[in-house]
Parts: sequence; structure tokens; C-alpha cells
Amino acid sequence: MSRFWSPVVHKLTPYVPGEQPKLTNLIKLNTNESPYGPPPGALEAIRAATDDTLRLYSDPTSEGLRAAIARAHGVEMDQIFVGNGSDEVLAHAFHALLQHEGPLLTPDITYSFYPVYCGLYGIAHEPVPLDDAMRIEVADYLRPCAGIVLPNPNAPTGIALGLGRIETLLRAHPDRVVVIDEAYVDFGADSAIPLVRHFPNLLVIRTLSKSHALAGLRVGYAIGQAELVEALNRVKDSFNSYPLDRLAQAGAAAAIADREWLARTTGKIIQSRIRLTSGLRDLGFEVLPSQANFVFVRHPDRDAAFLAAALRERSIIVRHFRTPRIAAWLRITVGTDTECGILVDALGAIL
Ligand code: PMP
Repeated sequence: MSRFWSPVVHKLTPYVPGEQPKLTNLIKLNTNESPYGPPPGALEAIRAATDDTLRLYSDPTSEGLRAAIARAHGVEMDQIFVGNGSDEVLAHAFHALLQHEGPLLTPDITYSFYPVYCGLYGIAHEPVPLDDAMRIEVADYLRPCAGIVLPNPNAPTGIALGLGRIETLLRAHPDRVVVIDEAYVDFGADSAIPLVRHFPNLLVIRTLSKSHALAGLRVGYAIGQAELVEALNRVKDSFNSYPLDRLAQAGAAAAIADREWLARTTGKIIQSRIRLTSGLRDLGFEVLPSQANFVFVRHPDRDAAFLAAALRERSIIVRHFRTPRIAAWLRITVGTDTECGILVDALGAIL
């Protein structure tokens, strides 16, 4: 890299996104997208918004979208922050946490963007080890820190934390922000959004990329008390005042309004996860108890890198992380029942 850039950039270890190949005859189970198309109303709204008004800037406050979110979750407009994917919402939250005393605590095995943001913003980071069953041990987070960021359910394990445990964290850190990243919450875990009214230090982050089948639209949001959200708006307006384009605002608002579609598709994915889990266990895999749209698995006799490569040869892509702590595991997105069936048959043949 050119020596003209700052030392901060030289030291960055960027996030490595999952592979996004062209979808020709591939079964893509590597980045936790929905196997179903987006809510039809979202596509209609995007089509309707595709007109001459695209020459105009988008609404910087995403009012229509925030109104839809407010209705869906029973919160106030000023308790909602929206961004260009939850990655961007998370980035602003990390940025706003800068310069607190102590390290930011996250699980050691978790969404790998968290350490990247810490590196980017120069935040001291302390990864807290999961327990032997790969669970988050809340007792290990009750010490002085700059803040806490946890996915619930955690990724890539899929294991969820009960709301009582989250309340323990919030009570232990009345002067620190606790960020709960609920990217996968719609697949069976309890949302912390009802706790927002009781805890001024709670920020819940959501995405439309998973349960709403709109990863390509790039929309995420955060819910917290108005004072917490105000800080995120300040960071956003110092960075990019129009993060959500007109099509994203229109499509996301329509998607969020369709609660019936959400319940139906997440219900189907949960059923497929149950079938996939038992199919994999029958083949001898250890499968962690997942509340997400993916399962985290390992086989006692077979190397995960070998399995991922053998699946790839059969046009099935799953996620294998090279990080030493989890290199024995595969993360497999729950696809349709047909896709899951093809995957299980392929693994049976490979083993
Ligand atoms: N949080 C977690 C835990 C995730 O796994 C992901 C998806 N990679 C994200 C946030 C980001 O999702 P998006 O930017 O698509 O909203």
C-alpha cells in the first residue's frame, strides 16, 4: 500500500465478506440470506419509486421508513435510527463509543466485523471467551468496560441469550451502552426491544437482510431511547446525510409493514432448520442449538475445510472460517427444504 496513507490504514485488517458468486446452478448457503424472494409489496414499492424523482436527493431522515418501523415495534419515531445496512448502523455506534475508558467487550467468537470497527476507530477491544458449550457467559461481562456489543442470537454459533441475562448486563453497566445486534432474532430468539423503555443504555440493532429477504437493498436500523439515537444522527450527519436512497426507503417501509409475510417465511425457515438439524445429526454431526437461519456444525472425523471444498465441487457453498478457534466448524445457512435435502445427501455421499 502507498506510504502516503496514514499508519491507521496500514494497520487495518479489513473484514472479509462471504463469497458472492453468480447464482448459476449453485446452492448458496454461505451468507445467511433468505431462500425466499422479498415480500411482494416491497418489490412493488421499489418499482413505484423508480421514476423521475430519482434525480432528487432522498429524504435524509427516512421518515416514511421510520414510521413503518415505529408501527411495527410500537416505538416512537425519535427512537429509531436507520442506515445503509446494519453494518453501517453498527459502524456509527462504534464510532459514537470512541474514547470511553476501558475496552469494548464482545464475545471472542462473534460477528467478525466488530474487531474490524474497533481497529478502524482505534477502540480498545477485549474479546471475552465463550464457555465450553460455545455460549456467552454473562458473568464475564460484569466488569468495567467502554461498552458491550453482542449479537443475539450470536453469530456464527446461532445460540441465543435470554432477556433476563441481557437485563443483567444492562443493570451492571448503567453508564455504558449495551448494543444488542438482532440480525437473526426473527428466527426464534426474544427481542430486547421491549426493554428499551426501561433502559436508556440499550441500543438494539436490526437488519432487513435476513428475515426480510432484502440483503441486496442494504437497510438496517437501531432502536434506543431518543438521547441515544440522537448521537447516532450526529455521527451520520457528519458522515453521509443521505445514507438510504429513495428505492431502499420505499422498499424497506413496505417490507416492514408486511407482518404476515414475515411470520410465514420465518416459520418455514424454522421448520427447515429443525429438519436440517436432525438430518445432520443423523450423519454424526455435532449441531449447536440454533435460533438463527443457520446452523454451526462439526463432524468428529472429517475436517471442515475438506467438507467445504467437497461440497463446493458439488456446487454447494457453505461458510468455513479459517480462524483457528472455529476452523473445525462449518456455518450452513438454512435454505429451502429442497436445498437442505440436497446438502444432507451430498454430505452423506462425501462422508
Ligand atoms: N450483524 C450480524 C451478526 C451479521 O451476521 C450481519 C450479516 N453479515 C450483519 C450484522 C450485517 O448485516 P447487514 O449489513 O446486511 O444489515
